[in-house]
Amino acid sequence: MITEKYDLCIIGGGPAGYAAAMRAIDFGKTVLLVEKDKVGGAGLFNGALSSKSFWECSNRFAATKSDLKEKGIAYDIHFEEARKVVEAAVFERKFQLNVHLNLLQRATHCKLITLDKGTATLLGDHRVKVVKKKQEKIIHAEQILVATGSRPRHLPSVAADEKIIFTSDGIESLEDFPESLVIVGAGVIGCEYATIFSNFGKTKVYLIDKADRILPFEDEDLASIVATNLEKNGVTIHRNASLARLEIKDGKVEYELTYTDGRKEILHVEKALLSIGRLPNTGNIGLEEAGVCKDERGYVKVEDTRTSVPFIYAAGDITANIALVNVAEREGRHAVVKMFGPPVKPLVYRNISTIMFLNPEVAAVGMNEQDARARNKPFRVAKIDYSCIPRAIAMRKTNGFFKLIVEDDEEMTVLGMRAIGEHASSAIQAVALLIHMNKGIHELGNMMHPHPSITEGVQECARMLLGKSIYKSSIFKDKLKCYRWADGVATPLEDL
Ligand SMILES: Cc1cc2nc3c(=O)[nH]c(=O)nc-3n(C[C@H](O)[C@H](O)[C@H](O)COP(=O)(O)OP(=O)(O)OC[C@H]3O[C@@H](n4cnc5c(N)ncnc54)[C@H](O)[C@@H]3O)c2cc1C
Repeated sequence: MITEKYDLCIIGGGPAGYAAAMRAIDFGKTVLLVEKDKVGGAGLFNGALSSKSFWECSNRFAATKSDLKEKGIAYDIHFEEARKVVEAAVFERKFQLNVHLNLLQRATHCKLITLDKGTATLLGDHRVKVVKKKQEKIIHAEQILVATGSRPRHLPSVAADEKIIFTSDGIESLEDFPESLVIVGAGVIGCEYATIFSNFGKTKVYLIDKADRILPFEDEDLASIVATNLEKNGVTIHRNASLARLEIKDGKVEYELTYTDGRKEILHVEKALLSIGRLPNTGNIGLEEAGVCKDERGYVKVEDTRTSVPFIYAAGDITANIALVNVAEREGRHAVVKMFGPPVKPLVYRNISTIMFLNPEVAAVGMNEQDARARNKPFRVAKIDYSCIPRAIAMRKTNGFFKLIVEDDEEMTVLGMRAIGEHASSAIQAVALLIHMNKGIHELGNMMHPHPSITEGVQECARMLLGKSIYKSSIFKDKLKCYRWADGVATPLEDL
């Protein structure tokens, strides 16, 4: 029997669900937000915020240790201290999200939102079943948003016990820095954890990479800086290696690799971390009963956040779009506007910005060079080494570059940017905005950037493409590159 009625029921209180709930309040709608575990989801716990806090702590430790070493002073950290830093960050954000929600629920002018701690299942039509500890109810919602997120992918032959063999769900519950750690998977998350553990310098890290280079979806020049820095930090990268076996033997990890050249190797480490992607949480939530279709990979099929059922929407990691907090929040908010607001333009994904927390940090927006090449259309590229950016020189951190990629047209419409280096992410929003507005680089070239700032690097790229840079690429050939790419050939702009 239906006991309650809402304008909107949201299943899942991660970044997608939380952001959607807040947007629905703006429209004066009654919302039931159902969360079975912790409000914040992987945006907070064992995910985006916790891992970034771990990364920041490892970075600060590595920098301080290196500075003090120059003065002959030893510096150390215990795992407990690092864990406390992460816990404090997670607690602060968790507290904030919950207090905000609680106060909203109590506010006299806003009795719109209800949070239910329970598990929700679609029953078909507009009905949702909510199972709480001691209670079960069926509610009616005019609109429904499914935002149940994702979970780590496991290997069928490897049992992750979260004590010796971990996934990202358990790695933060370690009790001490392991002596040695093998990370299976050299994607962004795997490389982030390799960076974190090698920064602390207490763990011998091994990274298993199926391909001949890490971060295969990024350009070679960028991936090679990250790989070099990881190796300098003591990480062993097993390139062209497939994991034939990984198991626990005598309380430790034994793993066997086969290489593309036929070699085999058996290694022993204290702990292992599986970082081989994530799977959408689509099981046992009644998608079939409600008639919601999935794609061939098991993600909920959506058209601009709407599923195959007109009043059921989906947002965040449960859909096949890129799995990021900013995307999940944006999709959740967009779905709500589609439900209750005036007509809106479909979401555009080509200007998604992301930061990869590596050594050094990487900022990405839009296409990289290999994406641009895959289109088989000419484009232009400008690249500047960090050693030509005054702020990087001032910081004594000249490892990195900016690369700006534009259409080969009059406007030089921006296609994408990659930046790797200290403060790399500071230039990302200006470029994302240009992509969003489908604009060229003329404004960027003419803007008055603060000095000294890292963002001057992206401006100098724009000026190179416009033929009016301060440093000339024909002179500093090793530090500046500016070329037109067409039919597989890169031609320097000065030769055109
Ligand atoms: C280690 C790691 C690092 C990351 N780093 C970054 C980063 O730096 N930047 C970035 O942008 N992204 C990062 N991400 C990705 C980001 O965390 C996710 O893309 C984001 O959390 C997805 O949000 P979501 O709301 O779709 O799902 P989730 O965050 O997974 O939340 C889904 C929620 O739904 C709940 N739920 C599931 N089923 C039910 C049910 N039946 N009933 C009620 N509730 C249910 C879950 O308990 C969960 O709380 C990282 C992820 C990981 C794992």
